[in-house]
Amino acid sequence: MDFNPCMKHKLIRKMVREFAETEISPIVHDIDHESRFPWEVVEKMRPLNFFGLQIPKAYGGAEVDSISYAIIIEELSRVSAAVGLCVTVHNSVGAYPIVRFGTETQKKRFLPSLACGERIGAFSLSEANAGSDAGGVETYAFQDGDDYIINGTKIFVTNGGICGLALIFAVTDATGRSGRNAGVFMVEKGMPGFSVGEIEDLCGMRANPVSSLFLEDCRVSGIHLLGRPGDGLKIGLAALDTGRIGIAAQALGIAQGAFDAALKYSKERQQFGKSISSFQTIQNYLADMSTEIDAGRLLLYRACACKDSGNSFGPEAAKAKLYCSALAMRVSSLAIQIHGGYGYSKEYDVERYFRDAKVTEIYEGTSEVQRMVISRSLLSRPV
Ligand SMILES: Cc1cc2nc3c(=O)[nH]c(=O)nc-3n(C[C@H](O)[C@H](O)[C@H](O)COP(=O)(O)OP(=O)(O)OC[C@H]3O[C@@H](n4cnc5c(N)ncnc54)[C@H](O)[C@@H]3O)c2cc1C
Repeated sequence: MDFNPCMKHKLIRKMVREFAETEISPIVHDIDHESRFPWEVVEKMRPLNFFGLQIPKAYGGAEVDSISYAIIIEELSRVSAAVGLCVTVHNSVGAYPIVRFGTETQKKRFLPSLACGERIGAFSLSEANAGSDAGGVETYAFQDGDDYIINGTKIFVTNGGICGLALIFAVTDATGRSGRNAGVFMVEKGMPGFSVGEIEDLCGMRANPVSSLFLEDCRVSGIHLLGRPGDGLKIGLAALDTGRIGIAAQALGIAQGAFDAALKYSKERQQFGKSISSFQTIQNYLADMSTEIDAGRLLLYRACACKDSGNSFGPEAAKAKLYCSALAMRVSSLAIQIHGGYGYSKEYDVERYFRDAKVTEIYEGTSEVQRMVISRSLLSRPV
């Protein structure tokens, strides 16, 4: 049985799979090897509205339901997790906070160019002393009349090297210089004092230009402040709840891609005069991988359903991310095992899946942080 809940979802999966296999698959090895961001793929994704997935139609978006969203991110990531990362970060933590917390004036000004992919979005919370603990944010926004002047250095920004708009978390003087009370500023490419630092030399996700961002006396007007000066934590947590659905989908796509490669290889590879898929051990590996992928998909779709029903979905999204990221690690490791020595070579895709899988346990909240989110919700229930 497949897991596409309705015909619409089946069609979306089919369309995105064809797109990814036709447009991304032929270059996926090279963009990883060369650490090159594939603008040519962006050009082709724009007309498909992949950059407006979570943006209302009124601002040019596609406004898809969460299961459609998860399917799109999964299918892109099944071929290239780095492309899936670009699309999910842009939509979920880049654009969605503006949809949810922006004023009408801000939505009209910032959403259309994000929805059509003219500008790529980024979400920039992390700093040298602010990782799991967002309270460590030191980037500072000083209010000068209606403007703010921002100073600080952000690190590990997905889409950083290509972003047209970044959500920058900065402490404002109105909030008493505590990272817990930061504000969120929509900073645009080209603003004086805003620049991109070095592109990180990463283990995986090498086709995404993850970078640092510098703010040096960067002056922004009041319209660039999202919500109120102290709303940063609230906006950040809401963004990360929806972001985790995207990262769970990305991890699931990595696992599915690694599994598909391993299944194919197991039927082709001959040892002891037969295909290795005829050995019971390999069959057990495949059975375990497929079972875990199904379980991860169900957890993910439950989080999507909770979100779309308007209920709180933070713990469900955290469970989906926790489980799917761990399953991406286990499945990609077994996929290498099934490939034997060839799996450890860059000639085969499975080593890339393995490298890409690891960071899904780290960004948008480490697995330890997901467990904190889940256990907090358990412990807050009345006994
Ligand atoms: C490729 C990549 C892309 C990224 N993209 C972005 C982005 O777009 N925007 C952005 O803002 N950030 C981004 N990040 C940063 C990422 O979100 C952080 O790396 C992550 O939140 C962890 O923070 P840290 O690296 O400072 O680790 P730390 O917070 O220093 O954690 C180190 C270890 O301690 C554990 N730990 C910390 N606190 C606790 C606790 N209370 N209880 C138990 N264990 C704990 C952690 O789980 C981890 O195992 C990215 C990172 C990478 C690698």
